[in-house]
Amino acid sequence: AKAQGRNRFSHFTPSMQTASQSRLRLAGDLRAAIGGPQFRLLYQPIVDLRTGALRKAEALLRWQHPARGAVSPSEFIPVAEETGLIVELGDWVFRETARQVQAWQLRHGIDLEVSFNVSPVQFHRMDGLQAQWARHLREIGLPQRSLTLEITEGLLLDANQAVTEQLLKFRDAGLRVAIDDFGTGYSSLSYLKKFTIDYLKIDQSFVRNLSPDSEDMTLCEAIIAMAHKLGIQVIAEGVESEAQQALLARAGCDFGQGYALSRPLEAQAFDALLARRAER
Ligand code: C2E
Ligand code: CA
Ligand code: CA
Ligand code: CA
Repeated sequence: AKAQGRNRFSHFTPSMQTASQSRLRLAGDLRAAIGGPQFRLLYQPIVDLRTGALRKAEALLRWQHPARGAVSPSEFIPVAEETGLIVELGDWVFRETARQVQAWQLRHGIDLEVSFNVSPVQFHRMDGLQAQWARHLREIGLPQRSLTLEITEGLLLDANQAVTEQLLKFRDAGLRVAIDDFGTGYSSLSYLKKFTIDYLKIDQSFVRNLSPDSEDMTLCEAIIAMAHKLGIQVIAEGVESEAQQALLARAGCDFGQGYALSRPLEAQAFDALLARRAER
């Protein structure tokens, strides 16, 4: 047992200690930064592949750390989840998205629709928040359908009663729901019957190597056909080339998002883009 114990500790190397200390510090910095200027949202255009119209975007969170510089969401979202700070951070994301969308709707006179990400951990922990969100939207007078919740398949698979009820409350409140990273989760599709879903977002991994007659092309076509029969619209993620964009458009994909259409933009740049596009 002793040898085992020593063995166990020997796995805890100085570099791991440094890593966990640095995570702890990151958590502390995160806690202090929520609500302040270190966090901001970028907006990535989601473009109608048939008409080229710009009426949608995804809000993506950015953290500018005073010492570390830009910290990637793939680094700080897990820390926020482990510490529970994700609830407060996600609440800020919701409010900031709502505020910004309303400002843009008023300024440009369009039915802009913006989605934001809600991680499974966040969803499980935010009991009661959806009522507050619905009330907040009523108070600021933003139509609920202007906001879309992006959730992943995993959340709906182990959907227990509580998750189901919460999701239905969001739906009842009028928010739209998108399934993010579609196709990367599990294989059960029964949740598509159980919940009313507005959008499927085809994961980047199916789009990356898209070419005519490829297996990825077949998968994309099948997803689009299935979704349309269920009355769900499809957004392709990670569209990086005009060739991919053309293939997806030809396959009947409704919307595209990716570097070929636009990188995620600072709010000001997105605003300028809306002003230019509104003239079309
Ligand atoms: P996601 O929701 O799947 O977001 C799409 C990611 O793909 C974004 O990375 C975006 O910048 C990137 N992307 C967009 N177009 C392209 C493209 O053409 N090619 C490639 N290779 N990538 C593209 P980002 O902003 O680094 O976000 C990473 C992940 O962090 C997101 O994945 C999402 O899961 C999470 N995340 C971001 N913001 C939030 C947030 O406010 N709350 C939560 N809970 N998670 C967030
Ligand atoms: Ca997303
Ligand atoms: Ca995604
Ligand atoms: Ca993702």
